[in-house]
Amino acid sequence: MSGRGDNGGAHEPGDFHDPDRARPARSVLRGRGPLTVTLAALVPAVLVGWLIFQATGSPSNGSGAAGEPDGTPAPASTRPSASASGHSGASASPSSKGTRPGGSGATQGPLAGKVVVIDPGHNPSNHLHTTDINRQVDVGNARKECDTTGTATNSGYPEAEFTLDVARRLRTLLEKQGARVVLTQDGKRPWGPCVDERAQIGNKEHADAAISIHADGAPVGDRGFHVILPAPVHEGGADTRAITGPSRDLGEHVAGRFARVTGTAPSNYIGQGTGLDVRDDLGGLNLSEVPKVFIECGNMRDSKDAALIMSGAWRQKAAQGISEGMMSFLHG
Ligand SMILES: [Zn+2]
Repeated sequence: MSGRGDNGGAHEPGDFHDPDRARPARSVLRGRGPLTVTLAALVPAVLVGWLIFQATGSPSNGSGAAGEPDGTPAPASTRPSASASGHSGASASPSSKGTRPGGSGATQGPLAGKVVVIDPGHNPSNHLHTTDINRQVDVGNARKECDTTGTATNSGYPEAEFTLDVARRLRTLLEKQGARVVLTQDGKRPWGPCVDERAQIGNKEHADAAISIHADGAPVGDRGFHVILPAPVHEGGADTRAITGPSRDLGEHVAGRFARVTGTAPSNYIGQGTGLDVRDDLGGLNLSEVPKVFIECGNMRDSKDAALIMSGAWRQKAAQGISEGMMSFLHG
């Protein structure tokens, strides 16, 4: 949830909040003509994906991902932590394709030599460490809490479990393509990492692409996904000027494929139907030096979206859509 305070806190109807903390998020989209115009041009790209799905009932990439029974096992979470990898201390993947931990990834596959950093939003045990996660950290143009608990469905399925599940499925899909994949946390840390460290892990790994996975906690009736792009921020330790262009490209690819593979419509409450939003208040984006976006996969507080989010088959499609978007971006 980056639309509203990632602590799952209360929010004002119609207002959308901040993944880093419970305060109105600052979307730089609202009321900005030129950007809206640019994004208007993107509408087709994202909508096409969705319309193709609506028309054919299956992703146009013929992967057959859609509709696959939930037989696809969630990726093993007993993966040996790769702190040995030494890069950023995050958990990297000792791929079976002969990669050395900390090495440059598989030598085979379309993504051989590429490094992808996946940031599963929040942490399942953050709620047990409120003093640690409430500590303030610097995000360039502001100071914010280190991390938050995230939201949950009304039936109690935590966002932090959802993000880890999708992140692990995405890791498996990208490794199969030969990428070296690093998770900022793999459910083994007692809390966090803090939002600034989540960005730094991508920077230290010199990631070719990075993505932060979330799900929103918006009013009932607010539905659909949106991808958050970094705004140009040059303040304090933040300087996103070099990544806004490639991050937009990454975001367009991810939004288009996510819509196509999941059949989920772009958000009906953020981004004016484009499925895209631009923000300057997220620590995970402000401090990134590599192409990076956030994705809000749906609204956990809306029963229809929640039903999708709680389905393993839909989570596999979500991971498939994101991986296809990242693949088409990385192939440039
Ligand atoms: Zn979140």
